[in-house]
Amino acid sequence: MSLPEISFEFFPPKTAEGIDKLRATRAQLAPLKPKFMSVTFGAGGSTQQGTLDTVLEMVGEGFEAAPHLSCIGASKESLRGILALYRAHGIRHIVALRGDLPSGMGEVGELRYACDLVAFVRAEHGDWFHIEVAAYPEYHPQARSPRADLENFARKVKAGANSAITQYFYNADAYFRFVDDVRKLGVDVPIVPGIMPITNYAQLMRFSEMCGAEVPKWIAWRLENFGDDRDAIRAFGLDVVTAMCERLVVNGAPGLHFYTLNGAAASKAICERLRV
Ligand code: FAD
Repeated sequence: MSLPEISFEFFPPKTAEGIDKLRATRAQLAPLKPKFMSVTFGAGGSTQQGTLDTVLEMVGEGFEAAPHLSCIGASKESLRGILALYRAHGIRHIVALRGDLPSGMGEVGELRYACDLVAFVRAEHGDWFHIEVAAYPEYHPQARSPRADLENFARKVKAGANSAITQYFYNADAYFRFVDDVRKLGVDVPIVPGIMPITNYAQLMRFSEMCGAEVPKWIAWRLENFGDDRDAIRAFGLDVVTAMCERLVVNGAPGLHFYTLNGAAASKAICERLRV
């Protein structure tokens, strides 16, 4: 099977060892010829310098880099500054998000939703940036209703987004249904599935609880029963996630975006199996 366009997501490392590890990860993933690599951004300021530093390193290595940018808690002035900096470094690809404020941090900021950020970037920079937005095949946890969430997604695209990356999921039908539903609302941009490889049961359940992604019972129970057998968890995770990716690609997904958690092995293994 030929691979569609792939991309990898990283978070900005906080330590010297983390920076070295991420360099090694990028070197291992480079042969897969990713379309771009994206770097997350902490709403409220926690990792913002780290995002810039990581992205600039990636650009220096010759990769197309897409920094994430969130608007919650931010002023227009600070967003203007960040966008100007990215533009000055020749960066033309961003992932525009509302973000989540760390608990205890109060102010919403001047732009309330991701659609407002997309409109702001377009108003300030015209077509300079390729803008990705987030999509939620299983709906955003704060959505008022499924219908309202679909309409809010369509709003981001109408504000000027070029493409979307989904929250991760393990139920391909949710993705296909989401794509069908938003096409009926006039959305015609590519919607790339976000893929979370499975390597660690406790971590997967924790992340999924936080972001509202469903881990189907048959997967969760099997993983739980492997206990401390990390090899068995990885082997089962590789089978399950590769099979889902194959189904997504065969049925028209325009790409695959891997949540790497700064490690190469799991994403690489899936891509290599898909190629066979
Ligand atoms: P929005 O699209 O603004 O939606 C948020 C909620 O508001 C939804 O419930 C929506 O239905 C509702 N809504 C939207 N527009 C309106 C409107 N006009 N009126 C009323 N309601 C509305 N978080 C980070 O902090 N940093 C990151 O780097 C990061 N990267 C991510 C990458 C991807 C691919 C994904 C899927 C998520 C990422 N997140 C990141 C998480 C994201 O910030 C959270 O899921 C956040 O809660 C919502 O962000 P959003 O951009 O989807 O928000």
